[in-house]
Amino acid sequence: MNSICKMPLSELCKNIQNKDLKVREVVQAYLDRIDETEQSLGALLNINREEALEQAEDMDKIGPDQKKPLWGVPAVIKDVLATSGITTTCASKMLKDFVPFYDADCVRRLKNAGALILGKSNMDEFAMGSSTENSAFFPTRNPWNPEKVPGGSSGGSAASVAAYQCPFALGTDTGGSIRQPASFCGLVGLKPTYGRVSRFGLVAYGSSLDQAGPLTRTVRDAALVMQEIAGQDPKDSTSAPEDVPDYLEALSESEDLKGMKLGVPEEYWSEGLSAEVEEKCKQVLDLARDLGAEVKPVKLPYSPYSIAAYYIIVMAEASSNLARYDGVRYGWRDSSVSDLIEMYTKNRSQAFGNEVQRRIILGTYVLSSGYYDAYYKKAAQARRLIREDFLGALSECDLLCAPVTPSTAFNLGEKIQDPLQMYLTDVFTNSLNLTGLPGLSLPAGLGGESGMPVGIQFFGPNFGEKLLLKAGHVLEENLPDLPEPQGI
Ligand code: GLN
Repeated sequence: MNSICKMPLSELCKNIQNKDLKVREVVQAYLDRIDETEQSLGALLNINREEALEQAEDMDKIGPDQKKPLWGVPAVIKDVLATSGITTTCASKMLKDFVPFYDADCVRRLKNAGALILGKSNMDEFAMGSSTENSAFFPTRNPWNPEKVPGGSSGGSAASVAAYQCPFALGTDTGGSIRQPASFCGLVGLKPTYGRVSRFGLVAYGSSLDQAGPLTRTVRDAALVMQEIAGQDPKDSTSAPEDVPDYLEALSESEDLKGMKLGVPEEYWSEGLSAEVEEKCKQVLDLARDLGAEVKPVKLPYSPYSIAAYYIIVMAEASSNLARYDGVRYGWRDSSVSDLIEMYTKNRSQAFGNEVQRRIILGTYVLSSGYYDAYYKKAAQARRLIREDFLGALSECDLLCAPVTPSTAFNLGEKIQDPLQMYLTDVFTNSLNLTGLPGLSLPAGLGGESGMPVGIQFFGPNFGEKLLLKAGHVLEENLPDLPEPQGI
């Protein structure tokens, strides 16, 4: 593999800015790596080959622009984020030919910072799933072991970064879809505070939960990407007016965790947690203590309700958001229909996969009159209590800390026939989305039994990304580096 592919994003940027590397050289190195690995990995739905090379040549003619920190850096974008002139399929037959004429705001910002789009990544259809097996096109494999899933729904983004196909990728996290695949593939994943990154151009799944964020190999790289994608956007009324702080500054603030209070919610460290995940995560807690943090137990008593509340709310929102795909204004359309009902039935049952249809049906049910109060309203109330739990714990501590998943990456095919088992893999991630707070997932090491990456996550206060990055960076500096994945 070309050494360019292994460079952390921060180093790559420096080398391009110093003219030690040409953009064309960088893009070609990653395209070669894609050619070498993609057949066995299945991380990408679209490779933007010609355009990226052409753009690279144009950029080299002008030379680096110091005001654009990501000048010449190729990025992989989850296929749920709109990219102008490039298909945006959400890994669904419904949108297989959809070519947006605009960029998602976070994509626009990346381009403004000088990045170019290398490809669009595979995902669970409409971001519904935890393994990327719900893609309508093909599953993605885990670069650490091709028998294992890369996680989901941003599994293509995670696998692509972990396999050195690109220096960073964007994912989206509605109930864990950045943090969980980051953890399964040995990466850093940041789910920003709800409202920190504009949702304009993010194809809606659960609108009150969705956030886009970076998947990277280091915390510094996550800070670099966050710096560019964060900020208010008049096109998204839920985007926050808060100023964007200097995230990179967080990395030089301190070499230890003295004075930091880390809360350990006991509900996240109990039964159901595999021994190897518990072992690795506890080692990180010990390290945090050695680095001066005060580690103290906290309680999040409403945690047992988070899976139920999350799935009711997310399905309700999905059923409403996905109503627009009827094959009339856009979306796949069956040509052999004779009346309106048949058109709806055929278009939607043929172009949506099983999981999407299940969620539309359940979501419609929990919103229907007579059931709304029993399900949706109760879930909304539980959501409020879960948020209060988190805010309460965060009033006593700076950050909270928990494993990302109960086990390391599972086998392809292992859970796909059993939706409930699949939903339960999100047990430690989806509560955070219900609260809107930010979270960072960090590699904790390799599991003693499976040899697969284990992830640990930190939950922060509203707009506490800087603090998360600071703690993540200090820990990362003191944790042993992961070896390179050898699965592909
Ligand atoms: N696995 C969760 C779900 O299926 C989360 C997905 C996500 O964050 N996009 O809803």
